[in-house]
Amino acid sequence: MVMHRSSKQPILKVALAVPLRRLFDYLPADNDTVPQAGQRVIVPFGRRTMPGVIVEISDQSELPLDKLSRLIEYPDDGQLVFTSESLALLHWCWRYYKHAPGEVVFSALPPLLRKPGGAIPPLPVQYRLTPGGEVRQQQPPGRLKAQMRLLDVMTNGAATEADLRAVSSSWKKSLAKVMEQQWVSCEPQQSAKLDPGPGPALMDEQQRAVNDICANLQGFHCHLLDGITGSGKTEVYLQVLEKILAQGGQALLLVPEIGLTPQLVNRFRKRLGFEPVVTHSGLSEGQRLQAWAAARSGLARLVIGTRSALFLPMSELQIIILDEEHDASFKQQDGFRYSSRDVAVKRAAGLEVPVILGTATPSLETFNNALNKRYSWHRLRRRATGASEPRWRVLDLIQQTMNGGISAKAMQSIADTLGRDEQVLVFLNRRGYAPVILCHECGWHGACQRCDANMTWHRSSGRLLCHHCDSAARVPVMCPECGADAIQGAGEGTEQLEQMLGKAFPDTPLLRFDRDSVRKKGEFDRLAEQVKTGESCLLVGTQMLAKGHHFPKVTLVVIVNLDQALYSADFRALERMGQLMMQVAGRAGRDQLPGEVILQTHYPQHASLQTLLASGYEAFADELCTDRQTACLPPFSYQALLRSDAIQKDDVLTFLNQAKQCFPGGEAQVYGPFPAMMERRSGRTRWYVLVQAGSRSALHRQLDDWLLVLQNLPSARKVRWAVDVDPQDY
Ligand code: ADP
Ligand code: ZN
Ligand code: ZN
Repeated sequence: MVMHRSSKQPILKVALAVPLRRLFDYLPADNDTVPQAGQRVIVPFGRRTMPGVIVEISDQSELPLDKLSRLIEYPDDGQLVFTSESLALLHWCWRYYKHAPGEVVFSALPPLLRKPGGAIPPLPVQYRLTPGGEVRQQQPPGRLKAQMRLLDVMTNGAATEADLRAVSSSWKKSLAKVMEQQWVSCEPQQSAKLDPGPGPALMDEQQRAVNDICANLQGFHCHLLDGITGSGKTEVYLQVLEKILAQGGQALLLVPEIGLTPQLVNRFRKRLGFEPVVTHSGLSEGQRLQAWAAARSGLARLVIGTRSALFLPMSELQIIILDEEHDASFKQQDGFRYSSRDVAVKRAAGLEVPVILGTATPSLETFNNALNKRYSWHRLRRRATGASEPRWRVLDLIQQTMNGGISAKAMQSIADTLGRDEQVLVFLNRRGYAPVILCHECGWHGACQRCDANMTWHRSSGRLLCHHCDSAARVPVMCPECGADAIQGAGEGTEQLEQMLGKAFPDTPLLRFDRDSVRKKGEFDRLAEQVKTGESCLLVGTQMLAKGHHFPKVTLVVIVNLDQALYSADFRALERMGQLMMQVAGRAGRDQLPGEVILQTHYPQHASLQTLLASGYEAFADELCTDRQTACLPPFSYQALLRSDAIQKDDVLTFLNQAKQCFPGGEAQVYGPFPAMMERRSGRTRWYVLVQAGSRSALHRQLDDWLLVLQNLPSARKVRWAVDVDPQDY
């Protein structure tokens, strides 16, 4: 390839939000400004104009210089949206995850800055009385009533624009006047300082973890904080954070999507004495932009956020903490597929700062890194409140009398617990009334037209819903196949449990927690508050109930059914089952009262289940690790998928077979094509080819070579395809 050099003007490598695996070369808008990497720009692209980000400045191009277009303009007054640190991280991401650079870069920007019109917002300011203003304020208002009312608001210290807006609708005019008189000065807003609350004296295990982490605050260091639920992991984060904040650092705490509750944020606010900046995809675009700006300016000392907060520009970032590191929501499953856990570790390494991965149930990847001493391993095995660990009871379901999915023995335990005025949590990871409806005459069942899945019967809304593509249908009265009046539900969902338990315990309040019952914002917290009053009640819910919530009066947890995972084709199913079981069990007996967990299963003899129950998660994970090693599965090998889908199955197979044929030789092996676990979804047929290697570098070398060829396969144009590095689902 011929490279064209430019000695006169810089050539700007620009990332554009297009699904192409390349950057685009442009020349500066004019000869006066010197653009910088990390800056947003507006560029001509075909017949359109669009925003881009300069990621690199070079002196050469593959195109002749007179073919290059000039940039159109520089928004943001020349301010940078990325530091060189974040650009380097993004660069690593698109190379590692084999994704289009522009999509990677733009996914790291707040939504408003992805649009041409968006701009970096000014920093929030506050207003304060000057000495002259204090004097004036003591005097009678005279004709300056409106202005004096503004000054009054500042009597006890600085006021924000929101405070002033509350005074009158013409506050802006009055403000301009008092500023002109120099009665009021304007300064960057300080986050309100509260008195930090005291923390408990740490237990030995906690203290050792804090000491060790704090002894290594300079430089990259990865810590696994492996502590059972209630062992005080959050307390460890808090004490480490105090240290980081005291030395002037910024901190980033990443939590799973459903772990980010007001309770959690309250706890940090109360203990640290200031308001953490919170960001997640449920906020408005304006709020997310404000959070981004606060992080970038350094005003935000602590940011708590979900997955995407990982890319926030924070120039003083001195620690990253990932809570519930095993949680599946840390993996982005479409578009730019990345693991925020792995990228967090990468970011910490680049910054040379520590990272803490906290969990009660480490992922096998992290577990193996701790075993190999790549990570420091801190175990917290005792509950900090002094509560004992819950007792397990396995109920063999063979030949049991069942009622709506719950065995007679479990019903008896529920009745006993409620009789003692305590709370019971019934866990079932399936919402709706029944997972399928079928005809007892001919065997017809309600399948989704667009997916390989049954439609879930939602009885309260009288509808069948597909949980994979959101298709909806009415529940047929007669069988659409044979016309018989024999339609029934099979199996149970939370809606059915709620109904059955409501009938069985009519005098006990029953609260259902799932995505159908907790739709509205704040609804979860309202229900959670009711549980916290401690009044005897029944909680029925999905994994929404499994995480992070402290319900002190729950003393019995019933796990209705996790059997599917025991014999699943997905090699990670057992690992996930173990994690979920421990999380749910962790809800039992968190306070002074001892807790019990009932597990209903048809397979009480299952070897992994027995290890988990008899010896705990660490022994369980250790066994799974051995199995994975024997089978050469991750984390003992490295995988990537070439995923493809299309309406026509033939198109997918043609592409994947051709792709497989042109896989370059080397250490990595290629297998397939295989149908995805759910072969048809939303009307599209989905297959994949698996690439596996014994070393990460071999995998990546061959993937890179392969991608160059794949892009040019004619059959690639008839399908959608993507590479998924370190896949989590198949
Ligand atoms: P985890 O995050 O591991 O589930 P938390 O940090 O939420 O645990 O702690 C569980 C409960 O124990 C909380 O109510 C917390 O205030 C309390 N706690 C934590 N550490 C201590 C301690 N050293 N002494 C007394 N109580 C503690
Ligand atoms: Zn029928
Ligand atoms: Zn569907």
